[in-house]
Amino acid sequence: MFNVDEPDDIDNEPINIKCLPSITQMPSISDQDRQRMFWMQLFLRLPLGGVGLRFPDEAACEQRFREVRWPEGIRCLKCGGVQLKTCRARKTLRCRDCGREFSLKVGTFMFRSRHSIRDWFLAAEEHMTLCAFGRDRLDTGRDMADRNGIAYTTAFRMREKLRGELRRDPSLLVSSICIEDLCPPQDVVDDEFRFLMWLLDSCASREQQTREG
Ligand SMILES: [Zn+2]
Repeated sequence: MFNVDEPDDIDNEPINIKCLPSITQMPSISDQDRQRMFWMQLFLRLPLGGVGLRFPDEAACEQRFREVRWPEGIRCLKCGGVQLKTCRARKTLRCRDCGREFSLKVGTFMFRSRHSIRDWFLAAEEHMTLCAFGRDRLDTGRDMADRNGIAYTTAFRMREKLRGELRRDPSLLVSSICIEDLCPPQDVVDDEFRFLMWLLDSCASREQQTREG
């Protein structure tokens, strides 16, 4: 996890602080810790009770995705028109002014994906959770394929896209599902090491709550 320089054995001699810089230094934070801190923050901002409960069906997920992508209201991608007709069968919108037809996913990481928006929301939650607990390396593409009942190549592609999208700033997917506020105590936020400790504790208690339902 994090590296702590162990002081040498010093028996009971009087301690000269100047000779023991390692005691006065805070443990150093590695790049790996920082990566994990990134994921833990995302995990803690996931909806309490889980993405599946907060966005129970595809309609709820579409609604949420629309609000995030077009906070001012949805507009035609070609002419900016606001008169749009929903074509339910093809899951597209058609502009009454210029005739352009487009899906909610066009121009995003989900473009040309056969998976529903809800599939992506749930896969993102799963990926954030695995990364927050440092379990992502143990989780192979094969595991992901089995869990979701999809082909290995599909799972692999989905995971690559997720990794790219979740690291974007801003990310449509993160903004869609990370809806809770992160509230670390004031004395923790300015100290990276204490912040790391706080994140680890918070993630552990959050997981405990989830397990207890
Ligand atoms: Zn138009």
